[in-house]
Amino acid sequence: DPTTENEQEVAVVGAGLAGCLLACFLARRGHRVALYERRPDPRTGAAERGRSINLALSERGLDALRRIDLEERAMADALPMRGRMIHPVAGPLDFQPYSRDGDRAINSISRAALNDALLDAAESAPGVKIFFNHRLTGLDPDTGEMRHETPEGTVRVTAPVIIGADGAGSVVRGQLLAAGVLEENLDFLDYGYKELAIPAAHGDFALDPGALHIWPRGTSMMIALPNPDRSFTCTLFWPAGGPAGFASLTSPAAVERHFREHYPDLPPLAPALVEDYLSNPVGRLGTVRCGPWQVNGTVALLGDAAHAIVPFYGQGANCAFEDVAELDRCLAETGDSWRLALPLFEQRRRENTEAIARMALANFVEMRDRVASPWFQLGRRAEHALERALPGVWLSRYELVSFSTMPYARVARRVRRQRLALAGVAAALAAVAVGRVRAGGRVVPTLPHGLKGMG
Ligand code: FAD
Repeated sequence: DPTTENEQEVAVVGAGLAGCLLACFLARRGHRVALYERRPDPRTGAAERGRSINLALSERGLDALRRIDLEERAMADALPMRGRMIHPVAGPLDFQPYSRDGDRAINSISRAALNDALLDAAESAPGVKIFFNHRLTGLDPDTGEMRHETPEGTVRVTAPVIIGADGAGSVVRGQLLAAGVLEENLDFLDYGYKELAIPAAHGDFALDPGALHIWPRGTSMMIALPNPDRSFTCTLFWPAGGPAGFASLTSPAAVERHFREHYPDLPPLAPALVEDYLSNPVGRLGTVRCGPWQVNGTVALLGDAAHAIVPFYGQGANCAFEDVAELDRCLAETGDSWRLALPLFEQRRRENTEAIARMALANFVEMRDRVASPWFQLGRRAEHALERALPGVWLSRYELVSFSTMPYARVARRVRRQRLALAGVAAALAAVAVGRVRAGGRVVPTLPHGLKGMG
């Protein structure tokens, strides 16, 4: 009975990006929500802020926020980045726009500000209660009983529906694994990441704030995103261990030497570079694959808890927000029956999250290696030329992922078709060239089949 289900309290574990947004969406549907968060309230300034200071928010995330009138609030301090600015070891910077018109942008957003805005929204939504300092440590998927550790001791509560939005290291997922009702595969990258800071210079940005800056170096890579205080946060990706990675630089002199040699424009912009490098932690990166995402229509996973991905497409949070909008749609279509909506959610989202996980890994190779190559740049220019020549027919993978809400799996299929078609065009042109040489005649190639069907 949907009315009864609606009246019962849904437990959402994790008041991070996805958990807070989910609470807002559920409240709008009339559900009562208990939102449990292990940390203290970050808005009081007491909590440690954790990883990644800023993140790139693009159309998929914005679309979900728009649906509950949160886009404007989330975008209040956003800094639009219209392309990549490539920093070679030597030579001039190279700006590569993300879209053919150069106008479309991804947005650099403070993770903390976004989480705070979502917490405010969840807190003021009717029927949502937030319990900070509640760390889930136990869960019985059969009875819905949860155990939370709090400063006052252990608290046990039961909920008819429990959604784990507790991030890549999800305890909800761990509990389902321990109960033997879920399988998981954690694929850690050899690479870790470390954040470094470029402060404002004389009150202004030290680099162009309208771009996402990339230092592609083959075996390592650094990116930088602007912050509203006119600083930049750099993220250096490098193997976590081994002789050629983070662990290889242990003294201030070695750090200084390394950056002067491989990232020569950084030291003059980052006065605390050596201290930052030696004191900031190395974060881990990986892909979480698990299934099923839900058990009996009562306990489910969403966001990073279900499908964490590597950050190279800037899509993890966007994808988690898209999850929330899709679950809302599934609830609407099933008359708010969790037993029907949760399996439907998994069925619709799985191939899409698998597709973005693969694309995110592939983009790592592109960013650290290929963006600097003349072939890549030629390819990008050709792609933008095709986008202009065939508007609405030819769209790059980056545009489809970042500036549309086309399901990720469809993006992957469409890009495959485009590439096949392009290979067909190249083969046809080559045949024409050969034919001309042989016969001195003129042959007009037609569009290969793959291109015709794309709308
Ligand atoms: P989280 O944001 O991890 O939230 C989980 C919440 O659950 C947290 O508040 C945590 O404290 C809480 N929690 C955990 N365990 C418990 C427990 N036992 N009990 C109670 N509460 C618990 N994504 C993008 O879209 N764009 C980017 O540019 C981008 N850049 C990134 C850069 C880096 C370096 C990294 C690591 C990630 C990046 N991401 C990016 C990915 C993005 O951060 C995640 O996909 C996103 O945070 C997922 O949201 P979530 O709510 O599922 O999980």
